[in-house]
Amino acid sequence: MSRRRAAVLGAGIMGSALAINLARRGLDVTLFDREAAPMAATSRWNEGKIHLGYLYGADPTTATAEHILPGGLLFGHYARELVGDLDGHITADDDIYLLHRDSVVGADVMRAKFDAISELIQRHPDAARYLVDVSDAKVTDLAPAELSDIAGEGIVAGFRVPERSVDTRWFANRLAEAVAAEPGVTSRLGTTVLAAEPIDAPDGRWRVRTDGGDDDFDVVVNALWSGRLTVDTTAGLAPQGPWNHRYRLCVFIRTRAEHDVPSTIVAVGPFGDVKNYNGRDFYLSWYPVGLVAEGAELELDAPALPTGPDLEAFIDDVRVALERVMPGVGRVFDDAVDTIVHGGFVFAQSRGGALDDPSSGLHRRDRYGVERRGAYYSVDTGKYSTAPWSASRLAAEIAG
Ligand SMILES: Cc1cc2nc3c(=O)[nH]c(=O)nc-3n(C[C@H](O)[C@H](O)[C@H](O)COP(=O)(O)OP(=O)(O)OC[C@H]3O[C@@H](n4cnc5c(N)ncnc54)[C@H](O)[C@@H]3O)c2cc1C
Repeated sequence: MSRRRAAVLGAGIMGSALAINLARRGLDVTLFDREAAPMAATSRWNEGKIHLGYLYGADPTTATAEHILPGGLLFGHYARELVGDLDGHITADDDIYLLHRDSVVGADVMRAKFDAISELIQRHPDAARYLVDVSDAKVTDLAPAELSDIAGEGIVAGFRVPERSVDTRWFANRLAEAVAAEPGVTSRLGTTVLAAEPIDAPDGRWRVRTDGGDDDFDVVVNALWSGRLTVDTTAGLAPQGPWNHRYRLCVFIRTRAEHDVPSTIVAVGPFGDVKNYNGRDFYLSWYPVGLVAEGAELELDAPALPTGPDLEAFIDDVRVALERVMPGVGRVFDDAVDTIVHGGFVFAQSRGGALDDPSSGLHRRDRYGVERRGAYYSVDTGKYSTAPWSASRLAAEIAG
């Protein structure tokens, strides 16, 4: 009997993980992407925080933490199935969360939310399987001396939070290699997907239309992230609003020497962060500087990356903003041997709004997941941190 043919649209973390999982379950998979390689877009250029839910301290409920937690706890498990060992590519210490006086929640509310999330984690059966064992998860206050060592202007409190991040560029390279090595996956790169249409009925075969021609499949999975809604519309899955696309630029630095600048985040209002993956590879972002495009159209065009003086000015703006709240971070910029500015899309099923608005829909991220029309599936990845887990579950469902 011939193998079922699956088209996976989009070779980001979701599509790549899904393609490998489907192939390992016996399907004949074709993986499409307009880029020249898998993992070249948002999944390469983000910070890789493997969320436990603490970032959503301004969600008045624990809905986001509950939605995000199961996949985050098992990120390491499913990521290892895809690429092997992660040792040496995960941040070594807990994250430092700094609370700014202009945050949308005060220190007491933040503390209570942190404690509620820690309890959720402690009760979860997979808590010991996170990147480090978090079965005894707790958030501790930074002592005043520690806080004054790290914090700059406007910071009113600091917490040590048991979350880790993965070096996304390293992971992107490994996952792209895994896709290439998987015998059941054929990659159609440099190919833009234009449409997906049922041939007879939605439960039957589907035609994928691309700028390189058409092809027919038994099952289609749309994991196009920024391009997903456009193709959903052609497939007869009308997007349910509201939604919001943003494009964020960030700075990726490799330093000459090792630096012990801690992985630190200022969130829930003023928002920016530094990730120290291994002492020499850093992610740095300041949200208001990096947010260069936003919209509620079906698809947002990626803005051109800055070059020349604009590039220098961008790096400088991020540095100035970060140094204001985390003065020690200047060492990373001063010792840079390689600096890249790149960005990615954030899609959210919400109205959007400013992060310093307590009613902004962006403080809540508990709505993402899979929609289906017959043999056509559309996946809102939601978070990098849950993608390998979601991909494994969806592949099991599709493979039956
Ligand atoms: C700055 C930033 C920081 C973030 N930080 C975190 C974090 O710390 N933790 C976390 O969990 N999440 C984070 N996210 C979100 C996370 O990066 C995304 O949820 C995740 O990477 C999306 O994965 P994906 O595979 O769905 O999308 P992508 O990686 O974008 O993959 C989709 C692919 O589809 C391709 N494509 C799109 N349209 C078409 C088309 N028409 N034809 C052909 N190909 C097409 C693209 O080229 C792309 O390769 C962050 C996002 C940004 C931008």
